[in-house]
Amino acid sequence: MLAALGRACPCVIMRRLYFVLPSPLPAVFNADLHCHSTASDGLLPAADVARRAFANGVEMLALTDHDDLGGLAAARAVAEEVGMAFVNGVEISIEWEAMQIHILGLAFDAENEALNAGLAAIRSGRIERAHRMSDELAKVGIAGAFEGAMRYAENPSLISRAHFGRYLVETGICKDMRSVFESYLVPGRPGYVDHRWATLPDSIGWILGAGGIAVVAHPGRYKLNNRDMRRFLTDFKDLGGQAIEVMSGSHSVENVSVFGRLANEFGFLASRGSDFHGPVESYTDLGKLAPLPDGLKPVWEAF
Ligand code: AMP
Ligand code: MN
Ligand code: MN
Ligand code: MN
Repeated sequence: MLAALGRACPCVIMRRLYFVLPSPLPAVFNADLHCHSTASDGLLPAADVARRAFANGVEMLALTDHDDLGGLAAARAVAEEVGMAFVNGVEISIEWEAMQIHILGLAFDAENEALNAGLAAIRSGRIERAHRMSDELAKVGIAGAFEGAMRYAENPSLISRAHFGRYLVETGICKDMRSVFESYLVPGRPGYVDHRWATLPDSIGWILGAGGIAVVAHPGRYKLNNRDMRRFLTDFKDLGGQAIEVMSGSHSVENVSVFGRLANEFGFLASRGSDFHGPVESYTDLGKLAPLPDGLKPVWEAF
């Protein structure tokens, strides 16, 4: 039934699927709405991500590659084949007050021209930034980082700090990705380079313009104090942002409780996503996060 609907009209499968999913959805619904494939800095091809999600019990998946929609068709094809709900996703890199923040777009039209043009513009700066990162690493005696990182980037236009991180682990300079982002590639450490990403209004405008929902990714990751976090969330809401991730692979128990409370205070929907990049490397596997805490309104009820 699900597969037949998908073949009939893949462009609207998500909205159509809601007629065949139980309504209301069960409280413990295994939605994983944040993960990556080799279309950006994940380790598995998009089809394998979808297969792994289904094998892990995911009932609704969004693939959310950084600044690129290239993996969506392959992941959707697998989801249709196995009968797992699938929504289009993307994780957009933006800067807000000189800080790098990630905004997820969910359940949008992937053919939308303004969204695609905006993402292409973000991607175009990445290679030049990667050269500058490599130059900075060379200054502290780490040679060949551009070429080394590129070997990990199946989509070169999406060369990211994660690919540089894998090179630093491969060369034995760092023991794992966690230590990479403690000692390198972050502000104040070797290899970090400032970059002009999209703006918050751009990212939300593109997502809403394509009929999607804008979600703050892993809010617990940003080094914002309580007052600045509230200012950021106010800006996000004023621009039409509707949801924040409460359950995230990178959230502590305390983050979950803080952002659960903020979701209710601001009237945001709550999202849940592992931020899976690959086996071994990621702390949380697809579909393995705890459920959303009670008392929150799940974002998937709005699709
Ligand atoms: P970029 O988009 O090039 O700035 O790279 C950001 C990517 O680096 C993220 O999407 C993660 O994959 C990775 N990353 C950033 N911070 C961390 C961290 N603390 N631990 C693990 N991976 C990280
Ligand atoms: Mn990443
Ligand atoms: Mn992110
Ligand atoms: Mn992510």
